[in-house]
Amino acid sequence: MTDLTGQVVLVTGGTSGIGRATALAFADREARVAVAARGEDRGRRVVEEIGEAGGEAVFIRADMAEPGEVEAMVDAVVERYGRLDAAVNNAARGHPPSRTADLPEEEYDRTMAVNLKGVWLSMKHEIRQMLAQSPPGGAVVNTSSVNGLGGAPRGAVYSASKAGVLGLTKSAAQEYAGDGIRINALVPGAVRTPMLEGAIEDLSGGDPEAREVIERDYRASTALGRVGRPEEAAEVAVWLCSEHASYVIGHSLIADGGLSASTR
Ligand code: NAP
Repeated sequence: MTDLTGQVVLVTGGTSGIGRATALAFADREARVAVAARGEDRGRRVVEEIGEAGGEAVFIRADMAEPGEVEAMVDAVVERYGRLDAAVNNAARGHPPSRTADLPEEEYDRTMAVNLKGVWLSMKHEIRQMLAQSPPGGAVVNTSSVNGLGGAPRGAVYSASKAGVLGLTKSAAQEYAGDGIRINALVPGAVRTPMLEGAIEDLSGGDPEAREVIERDYRASTALGRVGRPEEAAEVAVWLCSEHASYVIGHSLIADGGLSASTR
């Protein structure tokens, strides 16, 4: 198992789905984990779960759409643990399924604020910390999506935000490789989380038959014939942050059960 003993790791959106699984996976490797999100109850539960398993974690309340809260989040990690070795910028939202011309402007603004600007702001403060600490360096993983590789009907703005995450990742990766900071992207396909459940509910309009068709289509779109488990995405994030990925820079690592294999 990858040894990350004592490493300080920040996982945004670490209270649910892929982020929660990522926080648990890091704790399992004996990293010290800061879990950030808005909802305190879920945050407390993840911290308790890690503590009960003998790990070390803290919850930090932060809204990725609030610049001051993102800066304070990184400050809080450093105040608690003294440094920042790795960050997984994973928090995001979906918007209601809607054709491009019908999506309200507020949904565009909110989605971009959380999914794209939130990742940029997170990187800004994380990288500054990684450059300043002694010894300097670290690893950053930004969560994109297969929707950011291509497009998704009725998900244009979400897709654009996730394509933007890849642009941020590949650009910053080149800028900071020489400073000992490796920056990569995790690109999940369909993963069984509350976000996916919510998307299926929205797309089906609550109709059980429509729901089953959507579920079947998701399964059929993968080479494996199933959607992913959060742990299967989490393991990719852990690996990208580990020394095993020391020569991996600016990569978009796709974990999608083969969903996009025929088109990439
Ligand atoms: P999820 O279960 O809905 O979890 C989202 C997490 O982000 C929660 O912890 C949530 O907590 C947090 N969050 C949402 N808005 C936030 C905000 N404004 N500020 C801070 N935290 C916020 O979603 P998931 O499916 O695990 O998704 C994780 C990542 O994977 C996302 O980047 C998503 O786009 C990407 N992804 C998911 C799939 C999939 O099929 N599930 C596929 C491709 C990519 P609070 O609401 O309490 O803040």
